[in-house]
Amino acid sequence: MFGSQRNFKAFEHKVWLSSPTMHGEEMEYIKKAYDTNWMSTLGENINEIEKQVSEKVVMKYGVALSSGTAALHMAVKLAGIKRGDRVFCTDMTFGATVNPVVYEGGIPIFIDTEYDTWNMDPAALEKAFELYPDVKAVVVVHLYGVPCKLDEIKNICEKHGAVLIEDAAESLGATYKGKQTGSFGDIGCISFNGNKIITGSSGGMLLTGDFGDYEKTRKWSTQSRENAPWYQHEELGYNYRMSNVIAGVVRGQLPYLEEHIARKKEIYQRYKDGLKGLPVKMNPYDEKNSEPNFWLSCMILNEDAMCRQVRDDCKALFLPEKEKSCPTEILERLADFNAEGRPIWKPMHMQPIYRGNGFVSVSGDAGADIFDRGLCLPSDIKMTNDEQDIVIDIIRNCFE
Ligand SMILES: *Cc1c(COP(=O)(O)O)cnc(C)c1O
Repeated sequence: MFGSQRNFKAFEHKVWLSSPTMHGEEMEYIKKAYDTNWMSTLGENINEIEKQVSEKVVMKYGVALSSGTAALHMAVKLAGIKRGDRVFCTDMTFGATVNPVVYEGGIPIFIDTEYDTWNMDPAALEKAFELYPDVKAVVVVHLYGVPCKLDEIKNICEKHGAVLIEDAAESLGATYKGKQTGSFGDIGCISFNGNKIITGSSGGMLLTGDFGDYEKTRKWSTQSRENAPWYQHEELGYNYRMSNVIAGVVRGQLPYLEEHIARKKEIYQRYKDGLKGLPVKMNPYDEKNSEPNFWLSCMILNEDAMCRQVRDDCKALFLPEKEKSCPTEILERLADFNAEGRPIWKPMHMQPIYRGNGFVSVSGDAGADIFDRGLCLPSDIKMTNDEQDIVIDIIRNCFE
């Protein structure tokens, strides 16, 4: 089986999907925090990254928080979501996009995916507003760093008076019509989790153009203290502020954002060239209007190139077939060679926890289809060209 692959040896060092890429300055800013004793959720590193990120994205205010999830939670609160309120959410995404809606007692309604950018389908969103005209917030994702159809989504939100929350956790530095993702909505959320394009090891940021929202986020994320000599509380509080040590890591990373994007783009392009001739496509984007950050390179198999593959809730099986393959086979082969791929985010409407929630589609179920035929490829900045060429060969072999 898998004949010519016997000629390859497994990678000695694991080839990662996307791991942290450090540059040295991170340590200097961590050390500065230590030497000046700002070992707290206050300090120069925090102030600096709030300034730098809000300037980069071009949103007036940034609040550094403990995670992207915390930023999304604060965003849902700012949107005024209360128990029983429905919120329209991107369906094919990481659970952290939608869980914060539930923290506030809201009910996520999932909007199906379109094939042009693998993001929220504006036609399905329009239909969702017909079905639930009272909805007042939309959470939209730029999946794998590819901007969604922002013009259409923003127009629909404006038409229906809904708050637009951008989950830009994966898309820092990506642009749509020359403008940064995270700056289109009322609120933008970024993640500095360990595998994101810029990392603090953890962390996140909320971006807003509204001073009132900025003040509320700062207050809520530091236990909602009122202006009093003692701990006075009128509102529910959270411990969501970022540490000044973590902010030091982010601060050291930020100068390398464009370099990281350039390398990620090169990886995407090398896959695109290397996989030519196979019955597959790379994850698509609007080449005219958008410039992704290429956080993860993904591919999708043509329908007629799929061997039989079945997935239940927690396991997958496939039947190998000549000249055909499937994500399960490719991911298993990559793992055999010590390389890390990943299935596409399993759509939220297919998750047991959310199976009872609404799901709105105009095209059947594009999310389930992309989940079935797609996968994320090793996209680590530190992967060498030689390693990537072997990854490409491993994939090619799956189709022999
Ligand atoms: C990473 C991620 C988040 C959550 O960010 P954390 O910092 O890990 O809490 C939210 N949404 C998406 C789409 C993500 O990829």
